[in-house]
Amino acid sequence: MKFIKLKRGDRQKITENFNTSEWFTNHKLNPDTQEVSKSLIETLQVFRDYFGVPIRIASAYRSRPYQKFIAKHNIFAAANSPHSYKIAVDFKFLKDNTANVQKFHEEVENKGKLWHILRKLGIGGFGLYDNFIHIDERPKNGFGNTSFTDKYGRYRIWDKRQKKK
Ligand SMILES: [Zn+2]
Repeated sequence: MKFIKLKRGDRQKITENFNTSEWFTNHKLNPDTQEVSKSLIETLQVFRDYFGVPIRIASAYRSRPYQKFIAKHNIFAAANSPHSYKIAVDFKFLKDNTANVQKFHEEVENKGKLWHILRKLGIGGFGLYDNFIHIDERPKNGFGNTSFTDKYGRYRIWDKRQKKK
């Protein structure tokens, strides 16, 4: 697996629409030098192209102490997270976020075109939330609780939506 190095204050173009500073996750418990999976960044560019809408990354790499801090304050967050393995990202859309997040949920639920694109690119973790999206590249043989298997390997979907249909 290849990783892109992110240094605080650095701003380098990495894909058509993303630069390193957008992937740097700022928190006092996170280090000044971080890494994020290169293929995850490339996958999010594919995602961005699919929707044609700018994306804001909320959180990518999280050190163990930072993840533990989040888990302590948020009952939905796990103490052991793929974010600490440099293979996860949380993000939202900068335009029509609710509608676009909803569109993503439908893709996941109906195993639509985008679902297959993401599975093929190695995405195995799908977090459904009302206002943002989590995806990660958990290994094919699973990361923690990996519930399902398809032709691409194992995957997991979790639904933390407050507004259930
Ligand atoms: Zn996440």
